[in-house]
Amino acid sequence: MNRPYNFSAGPAAIPAEVLELAASEMLDWHGSGMGVMEMSHRGKEFMSIYEQAEADLRELLAVPANFKILFMQGGGLAENAIVPMNLAHLGTADFVLTGSWSQKSLKEARKYVSEAHVAASAEDSNFTAIPPTSSWDLSRGASYVHLCTNETIHGVEFHELPDLKALGSDAPLVIDFSSQVASRPVDWSRVGLAFGGAQKNIGPAGLTIVVVREDLLGHALPVCPSAFDYKIVADNQSMFNTPPTWGIYVAGLTFQWLKRQREGELSGIAAMEQRNIAKAELLYRSIDQSQLYVNKVAANCRSRMNIPFFLRNEALNDAFLAGAKERGLLQLKGHKSVGGMRASIYNAMPLAGVQALVDYMHAFEQQHA
Ligand SMILES: *Cc1c(COP(=O)(O)O)cnc(C)c1O
Repeated sequence: MNRPYNFSAGPAAIPAEVLELAASEMLDWHGSGMGVMEMSHRGKEFMSIYEQAEADLRELLAVPANFKILFMQGGGLAENAIVPMNLAHLGTADFVLTGSWSQKSLKEARKYVSEAHVAASAEDSNFTAIPPTSSWDLSRGASYVHLCTNETIHGVEFHELPDLKALGSDAPLVIDFSSQVASRPVDWSRVGLAFGGAQKNIGPAGLTIVVVREDLLGHALPVCPSAFDYKIVADNQSMFNTPPTWGIYVAGLTFQWLKRQREGELSGIAAMEQRNIAKAELLYRSIDQSQLYVNKVAANCRSRMNIPFFLRNEALNDAFLAGAKERGLLQLKGHKSVGGMRASIYNAMPLAGVQALVDYMHAFEQQHA
């Protein structure tokens, strides 16, 4: 089957191999006579799916032993409340604003943190740059410092995580890696907690991944629901309440797919990173060399995953999208708050898909020159 290339920002494309395997096991998982959606989450069949998925994610992301991996529900937006409810016991938290998602995190945290402090903001540049770490105004004694490693809407990515200790803060770093997870390695020495919804780069919507350092558990505010208390979730192996079993299963298939990926000597996430660099370079180069298209993000923080771009002649937007759809290039319309176009090129997007987009963009430009 020849599927179109899907550039959706999320829920986003899932590797065809993963969907085919899930389809083939839909009615009967491994001879159990049950589909995964029909199984008890505490039965031995689902427990084996869960344990494999957890172990594979730990291996792929090289998660150290002193971090727990939690499979939760609620998505990235719920985490904007769940994180402060679990970590904000000192009353202060710092936020680095680099786009819509970190802005949303700050707004939600204000309900639970008495002093939610903006340590840095790129709003002046319309979120096209990351303020240099030397300019960050970090609080003393903050519970945590929050940032979004990849701003899905503005297309701004941290290519290196800040070393908070070196910047004079003892607070743990919290990262929203919803649209970056599994696209590159994570430097866990600089992270206290990472969270992300699965629907960008891992699997279906409904699963949220949280990776949290053990020493941060056990400080939840009294208002925190038990099902969202990281310590309770961790102590119950993510089964205090019914976890999103289907999401965990499909994520597990994606982890197996990731482990099979190779680029030269590299495998797994390191191989994906090389591929993601090549894909992003191809698209940015083509945008920068054109007269018609433009991307406004500073070169040192351009996202590898979400690439917003504009047509200098906005009157051509509809024709661009219609022509793209005819060629099997789907969901390229930009987010309504930013406009223009956006190509999301997560792990499941092959280089050939980006090449097809670049070829189309070139042909469209020639046609309208
Ligand atoms: C999509 C996204 C979210 C929101 O996820 P939901 O599952 O809709 O709550 C949060 N943060 C980032 C960076 C995202 O890309």
